[in-house]
Order: sequence, then structure tokens, then C-alpha cells
Amino acid sequence: MKRMKLDKSAVSADDEKKTRLQTASQCPTGCIEVETDIDPGLEVITLDELTIECEKNKSHKSFIPIDKFSRLDLLSRYQDEVTEQAVKVLADLTVQVTAAWVSEDRPEKYPSGEAEYPYVKERGGTMLRKGSGYVQKVVTYGKGSGMKDPCECRECRYSSSARDVWWEVEVVSARHIIYDHTEARGANIDLFYDGSTGIGRKERKKMKGYNSMWGSSVDGDRCVLFCPTHDEQLAHTLKDLCKTADRLVREANSRHQHQVGPHMAVVVSHPHGCQKYITVGESTTTDKLDEEGRQTYTYTADTCRGSSGGLVWVVGRWELTSYVTAPHSRVLDKRNNKSGDRWLARLIWTNNRFKYT
Ligand SMILES: [Zn+2]
Ligand SMILES: [Zn+2]
Repeated sequence: MKRMKLDKSAVSADDEKKTRLQTASQCPTGCIEVETDIDPGLEVITLDELTIECEKNKSHKSFIPIDKFSRLDLLSRYQDEVTEQAVKVLADLTVQVTAAWVSEDRPEKYPSGEAEYPYVKERGGTMLRKGSGYVQKVVTYGKGSGMKDPCECRECRYSSSARDVWWEVEVVSARHIIYDHTEARGANIDLFYDGSTGIGRKERKKMKGYNSMWGSSVDGDRCVLFCPTHDEQLAHTLKDLCKTADRLVREANSRHQHQVGPHMAVVVSHPHGCQKYITVGESTTTDKLDEEGRQTYTYTADTCRGSSGGLVWVVGRWELTSYVTAPHSRVLDKRNNKSGDRWLARLIWTNNRFKYT
């Protein structure tokens, strides 16, 4: 990657299209989108300050900063208050994921056997990388919660006076960013990195992963990290946001279920390791739901390196469920990006069989 000042005035629509075509042709099986061109001593907050040349979206004009987002940025058929508020709450739940350690257990190749698995050459060493993720759930543990497990954070594990109440925050991301528990325990999670300290903005917070992961899949390119926290205010804020997101996503999905034409796809991520941005496009295909409730999306909403693991919501694809978000996985071709598996739906036993809702 060449470091050079980006001259936006020199970027034409033709240049951008050509760049996307070149990028796609270099990635016949799809390129993951992790930012590794990182100067640890320099934090670039906005895409305007970027000093590297982006090979995919040179001008980044479709990337909307969180504080500039409004319903007018949505496709015209979706410009209602419920959908706008749902996008804002999902954006609040989106996080940046930073990791360095590369597990010795990463496989040589993807299960299909065609392509090399990311960071194989760095196994047992480090590769500083930035991607995205999103909070999907917060669970209270300890005194008064009915859950007795002791806190597993580093501070409590080596202390004689471990905290008696703590919270576990579940963060979904892409498996190619965080492969296993050895990578998870060194992962840093950046919350509310919105690049603005204006009225109404939430204070930026940090969490760490710990020695555990679940619900993860290599071919589904999805992982779930657990992040312990003692920050009661943060835990309550995230719990409230999850609850509100659940309600608004259900409402918006119900409202837009019968839209004519392609469904709207929204992506929230941290492109190039910068602050949070929203992109909007159309959902182009949706895999059939398999018997385990797994499914991926393809969409035209723009993504860049750093967007891997970011939140993808296809509005109205499912009538009621809020379990429709999926982590962004890769560039598929010159027009489409692709998600990992959407989160498994709720499993319910009904009429003598399991059913996903
Ligand atoms: Zn870019
Ligand atoms: Zn603890």
C-alpha cells in the first residue's frame, strides 16, 4: 500500500468505477476487508484525513458520518421515522475491533479448499489489524442475578476480592478477524467511536475480550466474543440500546416486509480504522435459510478495508424477527459485497419440531 495524500479533486466517477473493477478482478473468490495499514501512534478519525490511497472507493462520498446521518440518506421508500431511529440505534451498537495476535490454529485454507485463509503466514506471531463488530446482547452475572459464575476478567482472576456483580457483553464480528479464544483475549473493542463530542453523543468507551468464544463458524465467517465489564452505566446503556434495537428493527421489518423491488441494505462499520460510518444500498441476493437457520446476504452498500465484521441489516427481509443482522465479510465482485452468516434465529419447539422465528 502506497502512502500518499489523497487528492479528491482528481477523482472522477470513471476512475472510481475502474478502481472497483480492478479491485474485484484481484479477488476472484472475494477479498476480506480488514485494515492493516496502521500507524499505531497515529489515529486518523475521519475519512477526509486519510493519507492512504483507497483502492476501492477513492472519494468515499457514499460513507455518511454518524452525526450527519438523516432519514433522507435512506432509499426513498424507507424514509420513515421508525427505520431512521432503528439505523441510529444499530449504529450506536456498532464497535471497532482491534487485534494483533494471530492464532497458531488458523487453518491453511478455507473449507472450500480454494483460497488461503487470512494471516496464515503470520500464525504464532502478530499482525495489527482493525475491523468492526456489533453488540448483540448483555448478560448480568453475580449477586442478585441468579448467575453465580465468577468474573473472568484479568483483574478479578488474579485478585482475592473479585467483583460480586459484573456484565458480559456479546460482540459479533467476522471470524477472519478474530479466529479463536487466543486471539479474542487480546482483542480491544472500541464503543461509541463516533468522532463527535457534540450534545447527545455518548462518551467513547473501551472493553477487552477474554479467553472464550462461541457461535463461531469458519465458512459462515462469524464469531461471537465475550467482553466482561464492571462498568454498570455502560452495561445498562448497552442493555437499553439492545432492547430498543430489538423493538425498532421488528417494527421496521414488519412495515417494509411487502416492499416492491429490492430491499434496502444498511451497513455500519469503521472503514480504514476511522470513526463510524453508515452506507446504504440494495440487497441483491439472499441465500436460502438452511436447516440450521444460517443465511448470508449480498448488497450494494459500500464497504472498505476496516468494514469486515460491521453490521449489515437488510430491512424488511423478515417480517418480525430482530435476528436479521449479519457481520460484513468480503467484497464479492465489482457491484456486490457479502455478509457472513446472519445470527441464528430464536429456536422454538412447536408442533413436534424446532422452528426458527
Ligand atoms: Zn476506502
Ligand atoms: Zn472482573
